[in-house]
Amino acid sequence: MRLVIIGPPGAGKGTQAQYLVETFGLAHVATGDLFRAAISQGTPLGQEAKKYLDAGQLVPDAVTVSMVRERLREPDCQRGFLLDGFPRTVPQAEALQAMLAENGAALDAVLNIDVPEEKLVARLTGRRVCRRCGANYHLVYNPPRVAGVCDRCGGELYQRSDDTEETVRRRRQVYREQTAPLLAYYRQQGLLREVDGDQSVQEVGRAVLRALGRQ
Ligand code: ADP
Ligand code: AMP
Repeated sequence: MRLVIIGPPGAGKGTQAQYLVETFGLAHVATGDLFRAAISQGTPLGQEAKKYLDAGQLVPDAVTVSMVRERLREPDCQRGFLLDGFPRTVPQAEALQAMLAENGAALDAVLNIDVPEEKLVARLTGRRVCRRCGANYHLVYNPPRVAGVCDRCGGELYQRSDDTEETVRRRRQVYREQTAPLLAYYRQQGLLREVDGDQSVQEVGRAVLRALGRQ
C-alpha cells in the first residue's frame, strides 16, 4: 500500500501515521522528521534545511524531492509506505507521481485530515515529541502516562522549536498558500479521502480505516 497523509500543521498526521504504519506494516516517511534528523546530525542537508524550519517556511522543492527519492529507494519502502508531510506543493506531487511511475507504481490513496483552524494552535503549542522514537503526545489531549517520558520507549519528551505561536502562524499561512491546492489536485485524480480530524485520536483512527475501506 502506498499512502499519503496531508493536512495542516497540527491536524494529527504524525499521530495517525504511527498507528497506520504499525497496522499495515508500512515504512513511515515523514519529511519533517528526516529534516530534523539531518539537522541534529549536522549534515550538509541539515545545514541547508535549518533556516527554513526555523522560519516555518518550506525547504525548496528540489532539495525535498531528492531527499524523498533517496528514501523511497530504501528496502523497507518496497513493501509499501506512508508519506507524512510530503508532498506539500503541487510540484512535489508531480515529482512524486513521476518517480513512482518510473517503477510502474502509483499511490493508492491520499488521506486529508481536516481540523478547524482555530483548534490548531492549541494542538501545536501543547505538542511534545519523543526525542528517541518520535512518538507524539499532547499535554492535555494525549498526555503520556508519566510526564515528560515516552510511553513507548521511555525516551525524553521535548517541545519542537517551531511549535511557537509565531512560527505556527507562518506555517499555517504556508499551508493555505502552498499545500491546500494539493487537495484539488488529488481530488481530481480520485485519490482524496476526507477524514474529520476534529474528534478524539481513537475516533479519527477509526475514520481513517473507514476512509481506506478497512473497517
Ligand atoms: P501533525 O503531524 O499533523 O503536525 P501531530 O500528529 O503531531 O500533527 O498532532 C499535533 C498535536 O495534536 C500533538 O500534540 C498530538 O498529540 C495532538 N493530537 C493529534 N490528534 C489529536 C486529536 N484527534 N485530538 C486532539 N489532539 C490531537
Ligand atoms: P513537519 O514536521 O511536517 O511539521 O515539518 C516541519 C518543517 O519541515 C516544515 O515547516 C518545513 O520547514 C519542513 N518540511 C517538511 N516537509 C516538507 C516538504 N514536503 N517540503 C518542504 N519543506 C518541508
